[in-house]
Amino acid sequence: MAIKSLVRLASLTSLERRLIKAACEASGKAHCPYSNFPVGAAILTYDNKIFTGCNIESCSSGATICAERVAIFKAVSEGYTRFKALAIYAPAAPLKGDSCGCGICRQVLAEFGLDVMVLKLRNDGMVRRKTVKQLLPNAFTPTIRAGKRVPTLPDQIRAIVDSLTPDVLSPRYAKVTGRNKFFGHCYVASEALFHMQGGAQSGYVPQVIHHEGGTHWYLKHQVTEKIVDLTGKQFRKPVPYAQGKGCGFLTKKPSKRAQIVIDRANALLAKGA
Ligand SMILES: [Zn+2]
Repeated sequence: MAIKSLVRLASLTSLERRLIKAACEASGKAHCPYSNFPVGAAILTYDNKIFTGCNIESCSSGATICAERVAIFKAVSEGYTRFKALAIYAPAAPLKGDSCGCGICRQVLAEFGLDVMVLKLRNDGMVRRKTVKQLLPNAFTPTIRAGKRVPTLPDQIRAIVDSLTPDVLSPRYAKVTGRNKFFGHCYVASEALFHMQGGAQSGYVPQVIHHEGGTHWYLKHQVTEKIVDLTGKQFRKPVPYAQGKGCGFLTKKPSKRAQIVIDRANALLAKGA
């Protein structure tokens, strides 16, 4: 049975009504001196956080941005990329021929999932209810473009971790049995990522620390101080990174074992894994 796309506000869940209320409130903040067409939007994340936005117009016209994208970008910039629903309210919108966000905003929503529900409140108390998939058929999506995607740091980390198998362990660890899959791989994993990131010019500096009875390697960015520890999960206690010391790898070029890991990881990334 097809889901009705126009429903009464009262028939929505309390969470959906809360989202719509947030969009209504946000419309009051709109900066729209050129169109006098205020719009408010509110996006609901997977863990039920709400971020709001309003349209912000610019005298240059081109720098104007829609309420929907303000809400989405606020959420993404706070670390939220999984969404359940987006509510919109435009108090000056006509009842007939009303829209559900512009094409650009629909495409931005599609970046984060085609199943996001868009709820557009009308002044007669009815709500237009459609998924992004319904609003933007044949959308560009990250999966469609996956083949061309430049691997991000998390992609590279995942590919390296998936490439760590016992055959790339140094001989002195190869005989140690009964440990987890990360044990003995810290040096080779850090080395692989360091070179995949572009070596010294990436800003990452290899770090070494003594932890839980052994020497542990990871990377630290010298400017942002971001810690990247690909094998830190092997430990029971948190690694006291503040005590780590910067140092160089034993060789300038990737070691033979690291090169194996790099080749495998690049093959995985090329497959879009
Ligand atoms: Zn828009």
